[in-house]
Amino acid sequence: MSVTSDTPLDVLVVGAGITGIYQLYRAREAGFTVELLEAGVGVGGTWFWNRYPGARFDSESYTYGYLFSKELFDEWEWQEHFAEQPEIERYLNHVVDRFDLRQHIHLGARVTSATYDDTSGIWTVTTEDGAERRTRFLISATGVLSVPFFPDVPGRDDFAGQQVHTGLWPAEPVDFTGKRVAVIGTGSSGVQIIPIVAEQAASLTVYQRTANWCTPLNNSPITAAEQAQLRADFEKIRETLNTSVSGFLHPAHDRATFDDDEDQRHAFFETMWSSPGFAKLISHYTDMTFNLEANAAWSEFVAAKIRGIVNDPDVAAKLIPDDHRFGEKRPPFVTSYFETYNRANVSLVDLKATPIRRLTELGIETADGVQELDLIIWATGFDFGTGALSRMGIRGQGGLALNDHWADGPTTYLGVQTTRFPNFFFPGGPHAAAGNNPRYNGDQVDFVTDLLTYARDNGYGVVEVDPAAEESWTAMIDRAARKAPSFGECSYYFGTNIPGKPKKYLLNSAGRPKLLSMIEEIKSNDFKPFIFTQ
Ligand code: NAP
Repeated sequence: MSVTSDTPLDVLVVGAGITGIYQLYRAREAGFTVELLEAGVGVGGTWFWNRYPGARFDSESYTYGYLFSKELFDEWEWQEHFAEQPEIERYLNHVVDRFDLRQHIHLGARVTSATYDDTSGIWTVTTEDGAERRTRFLISATGVLSVPFFPDVPGRDDFAGQQVHTGLWPAEPVDFTGKRVAVIGTGSSGVQIIPIVAEQAASLTVYQRTANWCTPLNNSPITAAEQAQLRADFEKIRETLNTSVSGFLHPAHDRATFDDDEDQRHAFFETMWSSPGFAKLISHYTDMTFNLEANAAWSEFVAAKIRGIVNDPDVAAKLIPDDHRFGEKRPPFVTSYFETYNRANVSLVDLKATPIRRLTELGIETADGVQELDLIIWATGFDFGTGALSRMGIRGQGGLALNDHWADGPTTYLGVQTTRFPNFFFPGGPHAAAGNNPRYNGDQVDFVTDLLTYARDNGYGVVEVDPAAEESWTAMIDRAARKAPSFGECSYYFGTNIPGKPKKYLLNSAGRPKLLSMIEEIKSNDFKPFIFTQ
């Protein structure tokens, strides 16, 4: 099957997640001919695939959704401060229909190769069904958490029961009722699904390798008064988000941990414990993440909370991290998580003490024997940052494979382009964000659209980035990684959860204001250091 026509598209977007939908909208509004390819059978990206029970935002709904249209903001009333997956999927479908974008979207269209032609400057993109499309500009909005990771556990195919991954959750509901269920992994996904499974399953066994510093999400419905206030504050919200380091509304605190005496500190820790989501990182004492003593004081407070909630002291001890500090990994936010371990049908297996040996036909085998199961839920994370880009068969100048170009990890400029891959962009990919992702990704989409508009309006057909600029931006990313108090090298942010993956920082910890100020400077300088040719 081939849909190739003589006239290439101006823009082909890959991925119908939050970033891709916005990129499609912006490209069309800028007057480009544009289509979007999406592997899934529905739109939503992360929020389409991660449809496991309990999946929800842990950034405030109204800061995570789109802010480009006041009308859209006004008409969509988020039900909760942290919306659940079905509402998020409905919202993204609403956006697609409201802005009449569906006619440009091809669902079930997984990209298998994308090849650049040095002579014409045109990309040829092939999908799984063999269809080919030609485009001048190729924009991959394939996200950072889109390729689920299954650990290489021996005997995975031997298990006779059902296996599902949180990041690849089936469209049909998975029934836990009366079943013996295992959840492997206690990252943000695992700790969201565990309490829900526990309520319904006959038994739940949680396989935990590393305990995480979980704190309450403190979700609540958005009241009518709050809805009205949000609408009144639209411009203020946008302004605050645009000037905050990580794209959240939470204000920074003005005191360091030991500026307060013990009673004041305890009271402040209580306030933090009861605060919503990421306030616990952003509005915390100014030194909490990098002053070891300060971090230890907060960690001990959280540990005491866990001991206070979990009845069995041995189980509580296993749930308290002992190998990393609070904030060193991306902290999950939970609802009734620790309480779950007080249920009679829930047990916790410490994989450091008894690692998984293999799966058998009946269940999971550790040193303690085989736990018989009906259903295994893999909550084992993703090939973060570069996972999707490395599986699309992308070839740039002279047939160079992106995977060879990035053999030692990604190098980028602004997290939107890499040298030797002209006319190819990847907003929301590696080096894009460290915080509230849609905010940074939206900046990148705006920038890419402006860049392409400039090229078109000035008669240029090829856009590439100066190697010196890429080198300097990538060096800045690596420096910021070393300085960043949080997110140590044990984190998937360095790719270390994937065997054989180069250890390279995959976020942009320099903050959103820096990205925005660089973008403004580039725009006012005729988009240098991008190189334009006809
Ligand atoms: P994750 O944070 O990478 O957690 C994966 C879990 O699987 C970890 O507990 C890990 O243990 C475990 N694991 C990996 N390999 C294993 C093995 N061979 N044996 C046993 N356990 C193994 O993945 P995630 O929970 O899906 O979350 C990924 C990211 O998605 C989050 O950090 C967050 O950014 C995003 N997310 C966001 C939300 C939200 O916004 N509400 C919800 C879910 C996810 P180790 O720690 O020992 O490696």
